[in-house]
Amino acid sequence: MISVVAPVYNEEALIDEFYARTCAALDGLPFEIVLVDDGSSDGTPLRLERIAAADARVRVVSLSRNFGHQTALTAGLDHARGDAVVMLDADLQDPPELILTMLDHWRAGCDVVYAVREQRAGESRFKLSTARWFYSLFDKLAQVELAPNAGDFRLLDRRPLDALLSMRERNRFLRGMTVWVGYTQAAVPYQRDRRYAGETKYTLSKMLRFSLDAISSFSHRPLQLATLLGFVISTLAFVAIPVVIVLRILGSYLPGFSALTIVVLLLGGIELIAIGIIGEYVGRIYDEVKGRPLYLVRARSNLSDPAGELHASALPPVTAEGRLGHPKPIEADSDPLTPTSRPRD
Ligand code: UDP
Ligand code: MG
Repeated sequence: MISVVAPVYNEEALIDEFYARTCAALDGLPFEIVLVDDGSSDGTPLRLERIAAADARVRVVSLSRNFGHQTALTAGLDHARGDAVVMLDADLQDPPELILTMLDHWRAGCDVVYAVREQRAGESRFKLSTARWFYSLFDKLAQVELAPNAGDFRLLDRRPLDALLSMRERNRFLRGMTVWVGYTQAAVPYQRDRRYAGETKYTLSKMLRFSLDAISSFSHRPLQLATLLGFVISTLAFVAIPVVIVLRILGSYLPGFSALTIVVLLLGGIELIAIGIIGEYVGRIYDEVKGRPLYLVRARSNLSDPAGELHASALPPVTAEGRLGHPKPIEADSDPLTPTSRPRD
């Protein structure tokens, strides 16, 4: 079976068309469509309900509020039961017909098939150039190799999907995570269409946050950059000390006040930036440590057993060490009363 997963946020103008086009594209194949309502405030939930009532292949997961695109996608992946799972946007920018090409690669043995946008119609010049900057910055900083212009439109085999779902981190950059899991990967090129209806839900601040999440979850370079900058500037200061002393001995005073002010301000600024960079990471560590569920489900349609419950549950994420924040289970043969026999956390 093939699962098609799409997050939906205030898309009442296009959800019926998405459903119709996806069904037409996959006609004759065993498939399910998992639609995640990411806390829509328009007529989307009603439409989703209608579609699910008429077609048992359509499963709907309604989140308790807006959790954002990446988390909504994760909720959909958690509930998908296919042997191969395709994730795409519901706004028809990613043509559902391309799924057939992806399936060909999958049948030929590829575990991850990602679609690369060759052309992006209907996007503003600003969005295109910021996207280009982001991909080249990410390429320089991050430890995974992301094909430039590969979005979240991807097919995953069950094995890489299960690997992906075992990663319960809060700041999710799914397209990076699907590369990180490895397995056999293949690319298919496509022309990205314009939005079928409505407006983009990614505001500038959301895009900024998203790129910070992406970089911080795949790179420590910004932190190392702060250290490097610190060394460079301290070296400059050490070089400056003998220069000042010699000038003083020679009797020439540095007409220094304004230069000094500039240096102090510059250093202050750099220090604050460095603290800010550390703060970005510390904030994310804090988010992880709190161990909140990634999302909360308000309702499900056409999903009898809550398969996603396991992942979505309120329990802290499972790690190789046991549950975060909980002591490791004590082995049966160890004596719980002897402190030394307890496993060290
Ligand atoms: N989306 C979502 N939650 C959000 C924002 C977006 O589920 O908070 C969905 C949206 O309905 C669409 C997909 O994510 O199906 C991509 O969003 P959008 O088209 O606005 O992003 P863009 O294509 O402009 O980057
Ligand atoms: Mg879009």
